[in-house]
Amino acid sequence: MHRFLILSCIAVTAALTACSTTRQAPDTSIKTSSVIAPEGRKSVTKDDGDASAPLLAGPHHLAGRTLEISSLADLKLNDKEVILSFDDGPIPGRTDKVLAILDQFGVKGAFMMVGQMAEMHPALARKVAMDGNTIGSHTYRHANLNALSFDAAMAEVTKGEMAVTKATGTDVAFFRFPYLAESHRLRAAIAMRDMVVMDVDIDSKDYFTTTPASVTQRTLNLLQKRGHGIILMHDIHKRTATMLPTLLSKLEGEGYKVVTLKFRKTQAPSNLVASADFVATR
Ligand SMILES: [Zn+2]
Repeated sequence: MHRFLILSCIAVTAALTACSTTRQAPDTSIKTSSVIAPEGRKSVTKDDGDASAPLLAGPHHLAGRTLEISSLADLKLNDKEVILSFDDGPIPGRTDKVLAILDQFGVKGAFMMVGQMAEMHPALARKVAMDGNTIGSHTYRHANLNALSFDAAMAEVTKGEMAVTKATGTDVAFFRFPYLAESHRLRAAIAMRDMVVMDVDIDSKDYFTTTPASVTQRTLNLLQKRGHGIILMHDIHKRTATMLPTLLSKLEGEGYKVVTLKFRKTQAPSNLVASADFVATR
């Protein structure tokens, strides 16, 4: 219910000022004291005037490999490997905090943007892409696609993809279903658009009104049982940025690696195929 209200707010642009989750109030929630540094590391404060975000001294050990995939079948994680995914943004005051934290730990995330949000905040959307993060779309207005006709659902997918592409200036090769509400037919149609559907293995449930500590603990518990996986978070929530340094510190301390995801096109451009044929027949 809480999430429904949040997402309704996103859908109704005119009501943004009345929506507590989309207000752009200063976020002072990230505290250096919340960071648990792995053994041998010290938590220090940046000296550039931004004391709101913590910084861990020393080399980073959390960054893992870059995984290039062209279909969902290629998305295979090893034990102790995670992908950090952030849905529903971008939103100023929150997404940029998440970006800063990822940067401090030397890792990248997969940002599944709502088209309407990317359209409203194109500079931030572009920054997410420029920082080397994976870009995905999450429909245009965060619609429940199972509640729409097939054509209307695909129109939402297409419009969202175009909006995110335009805002970020990059190809959008990943897609996540809002509410994870999907169907076989839609999955197949989205795959035909050369987009990989991002599933969820570990739901942080950061959309619940709970403390950052409980979000962190739930995520770690689920991860411990599963060993690896795609973690679902939301960069529109204040508590997500608040808990992220602690989560990443704990992951690092327990030997996890954050995998960077990239899309690899399988088909060569038609002109290359044509010239290859030409060479072969000579
Ligand atoms: Zn969502």
